[in-house]
Amino acid sequence: MPFELSSSDVPPDVPDADPEKTALNESLLRERNENLEAHNASVNWVDPPVADWYCECGTLDCSMPVQLTMDEYERVRANPRWFVITPDERHLRADAERVVAQTERYWVVEKVGEAAEVAEELDPRS
Ligand SMILES: [Zn+2]
Repeated sequence: MPFELSSSDVPPDVPDADPEKTALNESLLRERNENLEAHNASVNWVDPPVADWYCECGTLDCSMPVQLTMDEYERVRANPRWFVITPDERHLRADAERVVAQTERYWVVEKVGEAAEVAEELDPRS
């Protein structure tokens, strides 16, 4: 593991944030990763070919790194409702999303309900 989770890495809990606000935040973070993609693609990755991305949980000041290959990232981005988060349920918003894939390096979450509509509306690729 290149980094360890410690309690200080946990984003502050925001119990009053509504699902729509969370979806907005996550869409902002998705754009940040979209901007990173060109950079990550330009780097010659050796073995293993894994690039650093940002956790896309609904906490704007969360900047936990998550590691995905370009292919893995593209697979997540292909679905406007999917976001990538740190593999830790403290980064999960159970009221607005559900986990669709779990790996050691990252989890993929799918927006549900109102949050899904916001996420689709704000998809930079649609
Ligand atoms: Zn996070």
